[in-house]
Amino acid sequence: MLNASLKELSAALAQRKISSVELTRLFLERVEKLNGSLNAFITLDAEKSLAQARAADKRIAKGATQPLTGIPVAHKDIFVTRSWLTTCGSRILSNFVSPYDAHVIERFNGAGAVILGKTNMDEFAMGSSSETSFYGPVKNPWGQAYVPGGSSGGSAAAVAARMAPAATGTDTGGSIRQPAALSGVSGLKPTYGLVSRYGMIAFASSLDQGGPLAKSAEDLALLLNAMAGFDARDSTSVERVAEDYRRELDKPLAGLRIGVPKEHFGEGLAGDVGRAVGAALEEFEKLGAKRVPIGLPNSGLSVPAYYVIAPAEAASNLSRFDGVRYGHRAKEYRDLADMYRRTRAEGFGAEVRRRILIGTYVLSHGYYDAYYLKAQKIRRLIADDFVEAFKRCDVVVGPTSPTVAFKIGAKAADPVQMYLNDIYTIPANLAGLPGMSIPCGFGRDDLPVGLHIVGNYFSEAKMLNVAHQYQKATDWHQREPAGIQP
Ligand code: GLN
Repeated sequence: MLNASLKELSAALAQRKISSVELTRLFLERVEKLNGSLNAFITLDAEKSLAQARAADKRIAKGATQPLTGIPVAHKDIFVTRSWLTTCGSRILSNFVSPYDAHVIERFNGAGAVILGKTNMDEFAMGSSSETSFYGPVKNPWGQAYVPGGSSGGSAAAVAARMAPAATGTDTGGSIRQPAALSGVSGLKPTYGLVSRYGMIAFASSLDQGGPLAKSAEDLALLLNAMAGFDARDSTSVERVAEDYRRELDKPLAGLRIGVPKEHFGEGLAGDVGRAVGAALEEFEKLGAKRVPIGLPNSGLSVPAYYVIAPAEAASNLSRFDGVRYGHRAKEYRDLADMYRRTRAEGFGAEVRRRILIGTYVLSHGYYDAYYLKAQKIRRLIADDFVEAFKRCDVVVGPTSPTVAFKIGAKAADPVQMYLNDIYTIPANLAGLPGMSIPCGFGRDDLPVGLHIVGNYFSEAKMLNVAHQYQKATDWHQREPAGIQP
């Protein structure tokens, strides 16, 4: 059961081979055994989970089920959840209980899924390693000396260690895809606007997008069916006809045009990652796809543009936590050092303070044009690169992250090295495009490698098709970390 797909779990529940209460207990026991060493969950509440499981069992008895009814799902602690603690990985929210549910939580509750717990994450989703959490670092199930990636590292580790059959995450610059890659699971960041951000604590609102993490593309499709859809409470939510994201899973890949961007295979890409991704491209050719060399000439500017835009939006957002106006129109902040001291007093961690400082600086009088406006122009150029690319290919494929997982502490003191983790994932956020990562092999120290697939706007069904066909031909996604020390 711990290894079963969501489809299998759903069938087992429908056929009464297991009840939702039994299934939830099974995963809670696994969490109890492993969370002490992996630190993937911030909050657990077995009583609440089991109450939902009992309600799901009643629904199943009546035959009033949906595909996720009775299935436990772990939620990133960035989704506000009524009557559960929601910390966003921060000390500043360490006693925050939301009076309402995020849209995503409502959707899962409506489908009859069970909340298994709230997962650990980088503070306010700012990070690539889950080390900036006030609640301590998450450990990678493939090797506990290594980071699981971030910021959705708790969700990725929970799925990798089979502590949860599925989880939610958010991705502003790579925070679903990069931890999926480093922890050896599958993760999908939808097109901007497909999943409502209502109740998803904001990092950078023009980039943030929620999405699922799971063991396979097929599971992701099922989860996305529950998460996607218009919500009037998010002004950027897109009004579209509902889709079944499973509908193209079984299509053969013959004739598929795979765009391979040369910029994502150059300097900075580790040899072990390059080899695994190269082998995956060969596998796609065996499946009938053809490779199309493409260019994303402005993608080299994506990290610097992101580290202007994301901190600027974050500084504006975080102002609400203490009523001080950081960021936008922060002309009054002549003395940045003073503001820095203040954020420290308010309880933000070092990385969040760094972002507030950068964000306030680039928005302040005299620097706005030089940094913020320029970054917005670069953002447009990066989006245009993809418009050109998608005239010639159906999906863009490359590595998710330039290296496999690194050791805890290895990059903590070097922000630029840390930020470069997202060099291949950030362009999709800046353009608003959907992207996903699936396991495609192992590299140094037997750590997992992720394959990155970017599709055109709203082409999630196609991307899931590409990923599912690859997963039918390979078994990387079924590999499990051995010997997790409880
Ligand atoms: N690592 C990136 C950052 O720290 C992206 C994080 C995210 O996607 N939430 O900003």
